[in-house]
Amino acid sequence: MRELPSGARVVEDLVVPSRGYLRARSIAAGQTVRILDVEGEQVADIILTRAAEPRDWLSCLNTKLLNGTERISTGHVLHSKQSHPLATVVADTVAVHWFGGGFCSEETNRARYGVEGTVSCKTNLAASLDAHVASPHDLELDSCASLFMNLSADADGRFSIGPPPGRAGDFLDLRAETDLVLGLSACPADRNPCNNFRPSPLRVVVYETARSTA
Ligand SMILES: [Zn+2]
Repeated sequence: MRELPSGARVVEDLVVPSRGYLRARSIAAGQTVRILDVEGEQVADIILTRAAEPRDWLSCLNTKLLNGTERISTGHVLHSKQSHPLATVVADTVAVHWFGGGFCSEETNRARYGVEGTVSCKTNLAASLDAHVASPHDLELDSCASLFMNLSADADGRFSIGPPPGRAGDFLDLRAETDLVLGLSACPADRNPCNNFRPSPLRVVVYETARSTA
């Protein structure tokens, strides 16, 4: 793993298996969570919520509106549905992400590919956030950011999914601006180039710096 900031203290270091999910983690205000692409070309679907108000989920729409850009990267602040700052991107070695909302699901896989019962980011995120959602259908599409996802539109507005540009060891660091809960899915999609047809693991490292513990 590329170096953490000097003086950083690792609080948790977890591997999320290929096609799997992270059990929801609490991230205290001031702590930073690194989401790392272990082998490369892997998308991480994440959902955040405020510990103090668990219904105040991440909003991709508010995040883009309040940062004035669709290209969320270092220095931008992720915001909630109620427009509270949740986390700041403090490092980003990929700078290609999808903050348009949405996640792969059994339903879209059925509609797109005619397959039933697939594992998906929707089921993964519901399992990840088990204590916070009663059913997968409680998850809102706007609350999911797809890190490292390469989705772009051409001049005619037709969008396409390309292989993720992330290489082994690439990462994005989010510093919590308030106490957070993080849910995460290692996207299992393998019927389009979303993960370049080869889903692989992710790593989640929570760390503190001298500044965050001062
Ligand atoms: Zn997915």
